[in-house]
Amino acid sequence: MRPTGRLHLGHLLGTLHNWKRLQETSECFFFVADWHAFTTDYDRSEGVETNTIEMVTDWLAVGIDPARATIFRQSGVPEHAELHLLLSMITPIGWLERVPTYKEMQQQLPDRDLSTYGFLGYPVLQAADILMYHAAGVPVGSDQVPHVELTREIARRFNKMFGETFVEPQALLAEAPRVPGVDGRKMSKSYNNAVFLADSAEDAKVKLSRMATDPRRVRRHDRGDPDDCPAYNLHRVYCTPEELAFVTQGCRTADIGCLECKQIMIARAEVELGPIRERRAALARRPDDVRDVLATGVRRARAEARRTMAVVRERVGVGGEDT
Ligand code: SF4
Repeated sequence: MRPTGRLHLGHLLGTLHNWKRLQETSECFFFVADWHAFTTDYDRSEGVETNTIEMVTDWLAVGIDPARATIFRQSGVPEHAELHLLLSMITPIGWLERVPTYKEMQQQLPDRDLSTYGFLGYPVLQAADILMYHAAGVPVGSDQVPHVELTREIARRFNKMFGETFVEPQALLAEAPRVPGVDGRKMSKSYNNAVFLADSAEDAKVKLSRMATDPRRVRRHDRGDPDDCPAYNLHRVYCTPEELAFVTQGCRTADIGCLECKQIMIARAEVELGPIRERRAALARRPDDVRDVLATGVRRARAEARRTMAVVRERVGVGGEDT
């Protein structure tokens, strides 16, 4: 995950729940992709350190567990850069130009200069991040599947040239609920519509109670349909089947008002958000503990990365002594 700073409900439900499940069953490496942040924001590095600590604080508060998973920052393991360099030598430019996000992001972010070598090559850096740890699976959203496919192609090409070295990873697509922001659009910091994990109970409650609803329910007696209600996506995540049935009936008959309806969901969401908020507040008072987690993770990741690079250097026939 790029160091985006404080995380919100969309990250929790869309990504972190999945990471928590994965760490129960698999050996996991979760890292702060701080070099990746430079591929689009190379002139805005001032927030990277603060954003890293804020984000990892959220990971830990949610329950990403350093006793189970290796948690580190990418720039702490310079072997990623070395592997990126070697893989970039064997990756045809055409493969990179065909990655859908290359053109899409250039169109979506017209205010950024994305005509750089680093931006074109960032999927190769991702390939290095993945192949370094012989990852069997990579949890990604559907937009990132082409990147995992590219990683597989790069691994295949390397293995063919230099001998079996890398595992071809699979994309792990998890069912993620749709998480709208308070205005009904996708929840995003840049839309200013997010409920942050660090928000106070009061702020979270106010934001959630203002969430967009079925636009047909202008007045209290107007009937609506939960399927057309952005807020109801969170009911689906948090409420019991009985509550969902009650809300659906009440919405379609106008027996309940939207505020009453949302209070049911807010109370349920708070059961999860409350303890996260408490753990987060405790961690925020001890940022050095968060740095210690990252330092321990870097040591573990680096040991693994060194083993991989020793093999890679030998196969490629280039590379001196480990430092
Ligand atoms: S009653 Fe509930 S489900 Fe229906 S529109 Fe209002 S908030 Fe949405």
